Amino acid sequence: MDEINLKPVAYVISPVEEPDEMPLGGKDAIIEFLPEYVEALQGLEENSHIWVLSWFHKSPRDILKIRPGKVNPDLPEYGVFALRSFTRPNPIGLSLVRLERVEGNRVHVRGLDAIGGTPVLDIKPYFENDTIFSPLTPYIKGKSREMRQGMIKKHAFIHHGEECIDMLVGVRMAAIAEDRFGHLNSSDLMVNVQGSPCLADTVQGVSRARLANPSRFTYINVENSSETIWTKNGQSLTIRLKGAFNHDELEKLADEDLFDIF
Ligand SMILES: [Zn+2]
Repeated sequence: MDEINLKPVAYVISPVEEPDEMPLGGKDAIIEFLPEYVEALQGLEENSHIWVLSWFHKSPRDILKIRPGKVNPDLPEYGVFALRSFTRPNPIGLSLVRLERVEGNRVHVRGLDAIGGTPVLDIKPYFENDTIFSPLTPYIKGKSREMRQGMIKKHAFIHHGEECIDMLVGVRMAAIAEDRFGHLNSSDLMVNVQGSPCLADTVQGVSRARLANPSRFTYINVENSSETIWTKNGQSLTIRLKGAFNHDELEKLADEDLFDIF
C-alpha cells in the first residue's frame, strides 16, 4: 500500500488562525462535524476527555529533525518522531482535550492545539488505562521561569481539576524546586508535603512522585501551614508559605515575598 486516502470528518473552529499564534496549552475550540457523521457522535458526551486526531494542513512534511524552539531555542535537536511537533512526514496532530459539551454536530472542547480550519480525521474517547502516572520523558525545559511556571500550572490544572489557592501555591513551589533540581519527574527527586490535600494533590501531580515503587512522595495533612521539602542527591530544599495570599499575589509576587526558602 503506497498511499492511503483519508477524508476529514470535521473541521476546527478556533479563534487562532496561524500555527505560530497557538499558545502551548491550546485554545477552547469547536469541532464541527460534517452532517453525514452526526450519528457517530452518539454517546460521546459520557466522556470527559477525548483524543483528537487532526491533519496539520499548513505544516511542512520534509523536515525530520527540529529544535523544540517554541519551548526553548537553546534545546538540542530531536527527530520529529521523538516530539509532537506539527512538522512531520504525515502531519497528524494528536491532542488530548477536555470535552465540554456536544450540540448537534458541534463538539465543544478545551485546550485544542489546532488552528481554525484544521481538518479532523478522527476522535476517540480517553480511557483510564490510557493513564501512565509517572512516565519516563525527556526534560524539555522552558526557556524562561514564566514559561516553566506556565507549563507546571497547565499540568497542575489537568491533574487537580480546579484552580484553587493551594493549587497555585503548589505550582509556585514546584517552579522553585524545578529551578533548583531540574526535571520534576526525576526518579531521584523526593518530595514531602505538609499542608492541605489540595497542595499535596497538586505537588504529587506535577512531580509524578508516587507513594511507592519508587517511593518518592510523603504527605502529612497539616492545617494552616503549607510546606514542601524537596530532596535530591543529598541536597534538600524547604519551601514554606509565609502567610495567606490571594490568586493575584500567588501569580505575581516574587518567590522571597511568598516563601521562606532554605
Ligand atoms: Zn483544590
